Amino acid sequence: MIWYPYEQMKTMREPYEIVGAEGVWLDTKEGRMIDSISSWWSVIHGYRHPVLTEAIVKQARQFSHVMLGGLTHEPVKRLADKLAEWLPGDLDYCFFSDSGSVGVEVALKMALQYYINRGELQRTGILSLTHAYHGDTFKTMEAGDDEDYHFILEACGEKKDVIHIPTEIPALEEAFARFHTKLNCLIVEPLLQGAGGMRMYDVSFLKRARQLCDQYDVLLIFDEVATGFGRTGNRFVADLVQPDILVLGKALTGGYIGHAVTVANRKVYEGFYSDNPDHALMHGPTFMGNALACSAALASIELFETERYMDKIAGIEEITRQEMAGFSDPRIREVRMMGGCVCVEVKDAKTLEGYQQFARARGVFSRPFLKYLYAMVPYVIREEELVCVLDCMKAWFRR
Ligand SMILES: *Cc1c(COP(=O)(O)O)cnc(C)c1O
Repeated sequence: MIWYPYEQMKTMREPYEIVGAEGVWLDTKEGRMIDSISSWWSVIHGYRHPVLTEAIVKQARQFSHVMLGGLTHEPVKRLADKLAEWLPGDLDYCFFSDSGSVGVEVALKMALQYYINRGELQRTGILSLTHAYHGDTFKTMEAGDDEDYHFILEACGEKKDVIHIPTEIPALEEAFARFHTKLNCLIVEPLLQGAGGMRMYDVSFLKRARQLCDQYDVLLIFDEVATGFGRTGNRFVADLVQPDILVLGKALTGGYIGHAVTVANRKVYEGFYSDNPDHALMHGPTFMGNALACSAALASIELFETERYMDKIAGIEEITRQEMAGFSDPRIREVRMMGGCVCVEVKDAKTLEGYQQFARARGVFSRPFLKYLYAMVPYVIREEELVCVLDCMKAWFRR
């Protein structure tokens, strides 16, 4: 018996059974549909891409996995080198893990221990955003702010070490002024907050955050598990404002195998580098640096560069803006878009009831949540396929 995610098992609808997939298409026995959400925002090159498949198969013929404790191998070394070269500035120190949530846990642990290693034990506080989502493990739930997903936290009492602020500069300044001596980090999903409702905000907030973090000596963490690899129309938001710690996941392997990486800059790394064994980072997921995942990630990054994905994403944004121009309905609160993400926020969640089946009948797979109907398509989508996805969204309000 499979226990499905985020579902009341007693009332859930039967999931669609996938028997094959290629490009943006998912095949079921009853017919095919476009995956408009890239399997939770990860499958940026589409399904069954020959280059990714070949990279995994080739590595599997050598070996699939060895532990990273006391052992190392070429795919993980090449991926770490590639990321160090590809990511901005001195974000050079790569700690691998098996999922985004764990990658964020590692980032939070790094930030806390960075100050413990300096003897600053009072810095247990985390500054975070309202509507933040950072994963489903316990510390990431605490850093997050989502009563719809994480109401279970109430059972643990107050989150005494986490302060949430809106994405407004005055709130940011006030929080730093009041709490800076207790903070070890500010963690954000930069520019685009995903699971909290595809909320978009301005880069000026991040620039001010960088200044304040420098002024008060607090670490800045970017959780780019969702935004990384072009989703916001920037390769990484870290290209615009550089964090001290960057977390990547989801699209890291092109969505082919679960993997994540927590990348620290030199300052953070040096906070652990010493003759004192107690200053070591005590963490080590069993499957960190998995050779199949690293091989897939290397192939994914190469495709991203050689096939000019940033141009593809700019094209997706342009078509989306054209197609959605002038689209409105009294039931809609806002239509917003950024890079490869478009979201229709409705006033009442009931407005979206039945949308999934409606889209299915039109050959589109969609999974709206709460008040949010959105698309985050694979970047390889063709114009007519993208128009089909957007037409489907518009048609729902014109029934
Ligand atoms: C999906 C997501 C995570 C969690 O990643 P998992 O691989 O599901 O554990 C963390 N942060 C953000 C911003 C995400 O979108």
